[in-house]
Amino acid sequence: MLARPAVSTAPASPQRVFLLVAAFYAIGIALLVLGWYVRLIGGQALLASTAIAGAVNLGFLLVFKTRFNERFADPGLALAQTLAAITLIMFVAYQFDQGRSLVLAWCLVVLLFGVFSFKPREFLTITLFMLAAYALVINLLMIFRADRVNVYLEWYQWIWLALILPSFALIGTRISAMRLRILRTNEELTNALATIHNLATHDSLTGLPNRASLNDTFEHALARAGRSREQLAVFFLDLDHFKAINDTLGHPVGDQLLREMARRLRSSIRGSDLVARLGGDEFVVMVESVSERANLKVLAAKILATIGEPIRLQGHEVKVTASIGLAVFPEDGLDVSALLASADMAMYRSKALGRNRYSEYTHELGESVIERFEIEKGMRQGMENSEFHLYYQPKMEFRSGKMLGVEALIRWHHPVLGLLGPDRFIRIAEETGFILPLGKWVIEQACRQARAWHDARLPRFAIAVNLSAKQLTDKDLVSYVGAALRVSGADPALIEFEITETAVIHNLDEAVVVLEALRALGVSLSIDDFGTGYSSLSFLKQLPVDTLKVDRSFVKDLPHNSDDMAITRAVIAMAHGLSMKVVAEGVEERRQFDFLRDEGCDEFQGFFCRPALEHYKLEALIREHGLIIPAKA
Ligand code: C2E
Ligand code: CA
Ligand code: CA
Repeated sequence: MLARPAVSTAPASPQRVFLLVAAFYAIGIALLVLGWYVRLIGGQALLASTAIAGAVNLGFLLVFKTRFNERFADPGLALAQTLAAITLIMFVAYQFDQGRSLVLAWCLVVLLFGVFSFKPREFLTITLFMLAAYALVINLLMIFRADRVNVYLEWYQWIWLALILPSFALIGTRISAMRLRILRTNEELTNALATIHNLATHDSLTGLPNRASLNDTFEHALARAGRSREQLAVFFLDLDHFKAINDTLGHPVGDQLLREMARRLRSSIRGSDLVARLGGDEFVVMVESVSERANLKVLAAKILATIGEPIRLQGHEVKVTASIGLAVFPEDGLDVSALLASADMAMYRSKALGRNRYSEYTHELGESVIERFEIEKGMRQGMENSEFHLYYQPKMEFRSGKMLGVEALIRWHHPVLGLLGPDRFIRIAEETGFILPLGKWVIEQACRQARAWHDARLPRFAIAVNLSAKQLTDKDLVSYVGAALRVSGADPALIEFEITETAVIHNLDEAVVVLEALRALGVSLSIDDFGTGYSSLSFLKQLPVDTLKVDRSFVKDLPHNSDDMAITRAVIAMAHGLSMKVVAEGVEERRQFDFLRDEGCDEFQGFFCRPALEHYKLEALIREHGLIIPAKA
């Protein structure tokens, strides 16, 4: 996997060494021919030397070809070659009639070969071998060719050689030691470079490629897929509840888990596919040459199964699950970042659908996620820029036809996405916690508006504010509601809070305490979206509320749907039994209006009268009609 940097410390190959040596032999032979021409050596001796040189070379060639040399520590066989060459030189020296010293000079040339590789011991061996060989030559000359040799001159030369060779060897030793040092440094550098490269491209915890190297590999794979018109798949994988494991069992255990998951991921894919860790508990699997999408489902299921196998952590058997998102090139993105983003979105969908599953990217998903991102990041800014507004929807009393109050409904004038209703951002605000400052602003704004309408001498009517479940658990709620009332000078009797039954049901006792405290401030309370939760009569009895709002879904099919008719009747009767008022939501048609009025419902809200309006439109309406606002149609 590791791309090694292009630095090589490998010695020259034996083949190249062989060729070099052979070339020197050729030069030597050429010199011998020249020597024969000037009558320094006889014809027979020339032939014999050439034959020996040829035989030696052939022998080495054979050794190299059969790779016999590879059995030795030095596959270049430098020492053997040197000894062979010296033997040959000595043979030639014996044959030379004069100028033997010239031949001996070749010994120095031969020694040069070893300068870069011989160790001191080898230099010593060669030096001794040369001196011994030359001594042997002198002795042989004295015995067999006494007439042609000047023994004193030969021994004189021997002494010369005996003096020169050690110094030569000394220098050679030095040089070869230096070379070794350089080689070693070079190797260390290479290793260091490789380590750096590894650190830069791999995640140190799991050993998997990291984001940087994923990008790299991914880009190449995309280029290949583009050329061969093949599909390429990316799985974005995020472990479920990893943070909880990390927080409860500790980081070392979290690390152990990540390592194990990395190993399982690796083992569940082909060697040609890529697994990378993006950081945290996020992994990416890239699969090339996808033939059918169906295969990807199989793979995703396989990955989920391997991840889900129990793992022992600190003596406990733990089961970990993952959420996977899948994106495919080219449909879901054309470059690395687009594909990763698509797969990431699909992964979030898996989380939203309940985790431990995989989802494929779709274009609708992309749009909704982009929108979500816009919304999430823009909320704070939006509040600073006063992009949030309250609209007010009249609540009409059946009996008198009078508007008794309005419900404040939030809208966001988003600079890019346009006018957004609360269904587009309230849930996100609840998830991110932004609902707290936003909800506080709504309360303050509603109080200011109540006071402003009072100051503008409009007839009295209440303003209802929606409270989210998160706000109910905010310990500061009661105090900032009190502060908002005081600061604005609004009449608490004109402020009402709407709370869904689901917001109270989970923590009834605490909710009751908060609701009592709110009521103590003088405001009134109603239960919103009644009928969609699981409230029972006994539950309702415990709550200090004044009003029930029948959910729009029950009103929608009135008066055709007999179930809805029965439910609405029962709710009205029940609420009246508990001395509560009943408000019907979402009244759009005359028939709905008539039915509810005949059943004794107290108030209604809906497009049949008016949708939620900007404050100045509501003011204009009241100035025109008073509180008896006529139905629209
Ligand atoms: P909700 O409390 O049930 O509010 C009534 C919703 O019904 C409003 O939608 C209103 O515009 C809509 N509506 C009213 N009459 C009709 C009708 O005749 N037909 C139909 N089809 N719809 C009608 P909206 O304004 O989109 O608000 C949606 C939800 O957002 C609200 O439901 C409420 O739960 C939440 N919400 C609105 N403003 C706030 C706020 O300031 N804070 C919090 N926490 N939630 C808010
Ligand atoms: Ca409401
Ligand atoms: Ca409602």
